[in-house]
Amino acid sequence: MEVFEKLESEVRSYVRGFPVVFDRAEGHELFDVDGNRYLDFFAGAGVLNYGHNNPALKKPLLEYIERGAITHSLDMASSAKRDFLARFHEVILKPRGLDYKVQFPGPTGTNAVEAALKLARKVTGRHNIAAFTNAFHGMTLGALAVTGNAFKRQGGGIPLGWGGTATLPFDGYLGEGVDTLDYFERLLDDTSSGLDKPAAVIVEPVQAEGGVNVASAAWLGRLREITQKHGILLIADEIQIGCGRSGNFFAFEESGIEPDMVALSKSLSGYGLPFAVTLLKPELDKWAPGEHNGTFRGHNLAMVTATAALEHFWAKKDFEAEVQKKAELVRGRLESYAKKDSRLSVRGRGLMQGLVFPQDDQASEVSKEAFSRGLVIETAGATDNVVKFLMPLTTTEQALSEGLDIVEKSADAVLGR
Ligand SMILES: *Cc1c(COP(=O)(O)O)cnc(C)c1O
Repeated sequence: MEVFEKLESEVRSYVRGFPVVFDRAEGHELFDVDGNRYLDFFAGAGVLNYGHNNPALKKPLLEYIERGAITHSLDMASSAKRDFLARFHEVILKPRGLDYKVQFPGPTGTNAVEAALKLARKVTGRHNIAAFTNAFHGMTLGALAVTGNAFKRQGGGIPLGWGGTATLPFDGYLGEGVDTLDYFERLLDDTSSGLDKPAAVIVEPVQAEGGVNVASAAWLGRLREITQKHGILLIADEIQIGCGRSGNFFAFEESGIEPDMVALSKSLSGYGLPFAVTLLKPELDKWAPGEHNGTFRGHNLAMVTATAALEHFWAKKDFEAEVQKKAELVRGRLESYAKKDSRLSVRGRGLMQGLVFPQDDQASEVSKEAFSRGLVIETAGATDNVVKFLMPLTTTEQALSEGLDIVEKSADAVLGR
């Protein structure tokens, strides 16, 4: 570990929670340089929905490299990009009745968000963007301005309000029985509310970093109605909950809404290669050529594995049902565990589930205990009180129960049971 402590910036973070040198990985398993095995219930923060080094993705990737195909192409046309665009349309958008154009904004999530915010402001001519409490949208200044966490925000080093942002209460923020959208609607209807009419609202259908907070289908539906009525664009940030994590390809599908723009990244390449897209309703596509660009928009290796993931998992009918079945198993186990202790609760959707602890930092203690027992699992929420289950969607049922056993033992230790 000395080399990291000596040579790498203090900004490093996950390495502190999981202080070993990882070397190999396969499916839902990680191995360190000493050959120790760890179960991976973190999956690269939701980047590895199909597990590590999935052979169905690795094979076409190796063949693509071996035949001397294009690796980097800016935004020039390549066969890999042609195939990705065509298959994404055929396999994902068309069967869902969704009509979007695809923008390649640069390969990270925050870039997909920046592109959406810029386009919303350009198209509407308005500056304000409304975002929700506990939101996480990325680390560049535009995305940071719509992110909730105070620690991350102060890292920006300049006032973020210049970006023109407003914060609204997320679903459930004001406790049970309060529909937080009443507040938004009232602000919009009152010309003296002080709210500059937003260009767009950006929302995560399930807030991941913010604590595994689930927006109900009804709440999302009403948000869509309000935004439509007032001519405000709706941007769904599906970077972490998208690509199947919720049990559907897009988490918004359950609610039946159609956002105006969608940001996708993390598991889009399926292999851990950086890749992002911003999906836009065709009528919003008012970009001038090159108005938003980026050197690594043509990351063809990521397009190859993304297309392979579409073929291997999404072109088949039963993948969503498989994920949903595993999600029920995980959810059931967590709920019966939480039942034993009234201080605990469970929330989440699909294979993003949160076990909520009563005290700050307790989830970090559980994560630490779990790691000492051979499980990598992370926390969420502003006070690190939520253990976040984010295992690969391909984790076997046997490995799911192995990992859940470890979490239960770890939680028992932290709760002193
Ligand atoms: C990770 C994440 C981002 C930012 O993605 P980066 O690739 O880290 O820039 C944005 N929104 C959500 C919901 C995320 O989980």
